[in-house]
Amino acid sequence: MKICRILDESISIGCNMANAVVSFAEMTVSAVAIVTDVVRDGAAVTGYGFNSNGRYSQSGILRTRLIPRLLAANNGQLLDDAGSNFDPFKCWQVMMRNEKPGGHGDRAAAVGALDMALWDAVAKIEGKPLYRLLADRFRGGVADGDVYVYAAGGYYYPQEAGVALLQDEMRRYVDMGYESVKMKVGGASLPEDLRRIEGVLAVLPKEASLAVDANGRFNLPQALDFSRAIEPYHLKWYEEPGDPLDYALLKSVAENSKTPLATGENLFSSQDARNLLRYGGLDRNTSVLQMDPALSYGLVDYLRTLEVMKESNWSHRRCIPHGGHQLALHVAAGMGLGGNESYPGVFQPFGGFADGAEIRNGRMRIPDEPGVGIELKSNLFALFKQMLS
Ligand code: MG
Repeated sequence: MKICRILDESISIGCNMANAVVSFAEMTVSAVAIVTDVVRDGAAVTGYGFNSNGRYSQSGILRTRLIPRLLAANNGQLLDDAGSNFDPFKCWQVMMRNEKPGGHGDRAAAVGALDMALWDAVAKIEGKPLYRLLADRFRGGVADGDVYVYAAGGYYYPQEAGVALLQDEMRRYVDMGYESVKMKVGGASLPEDLRRIEGVLAVLPKEASLAVDANGRFNLPQALDFSRAIEPYHLKWYEEPGDPLDYALLKSVAENSKTPLATGENLFSSQDARNLLRYGGLDRNTSVLQMDPALSYGLVDYLRTLEVMKESNWSHRRCIPHGGHQLALHVAAGMGLGGNESYPGVFQPFGGFADGAEIRNGRMRIPDEPGVGIELKSNLFALFKQMLS
């Protein structure tokens, strides 16, 4: 059993939208394919992966460090003890050989892309959907039947006048079956953002809820002002008020905010997650943790994050990962998380789940095909097929 080849490509997902801090006009993603010599259903098992979205492609780190290390490793370094499948934990050690601790940035996203492809291959070799494999290995066989998903959108667009487009977008999400939606804030003046929030609330049905995401835009006084201003709206959560690594700022906001807080998508290691829980002042009963396995050293390190949470008496249900991809959807069902982000319509072809996947009462069932399910999303699979051709 061996890895025959590993392909990677930088794919543009550039589009004309922005949050409070970045424009996505130049955004790229690394797509990777790991081709093995294992045959299932008459074809070589190939694992597919990508580094979520929002942090650009990682071609240099992949090509000069991580991929050569995997290809140079011997079977004992890559396979489980029985030699019957690849071992993502051992592969992780191979990828991270001679890498200093700390400084978790682009390297974490590069490892995340390959880790997704490895778990996809491992689940296909076992003939199971990834959520089932995770439940069997780590949760005594217990998997959730469906997963809470919320629609993330509400970006700033240059052509937008008033809130009509934003309202149309949110109505579409509700029509698709979502019961929670999220919009960007912090990219306009406070009065303008409040008008946008009120515009969305005006079109949401009573049972639906709205979260807001400032993408780390505010300093402490701004974050506190915003927190006070949104109090009357009873929003679902207030996401990344300030710089994601400023735990003292977060703690001050947490002490004052009546709206639950959410953060974590820009923390890229289990060690960073530990610091967040230690110093961020978050409420373990209401806060939402959004670390994204595909951006943060993959599922291998995300499982360590879940251990850190257990040690700190945090329920896994507080986790709703960033990224809107199928890897996190499987992790949510297999490891008992609180849900998963969803990007209906943005970050294509990487955003979204299997074609035709239905959302009922804000929840989604996961298909039972082996692996992560890249093949079930036709526009995404077409991209990988082209890479391999
Ligand atoms: Mg966010």
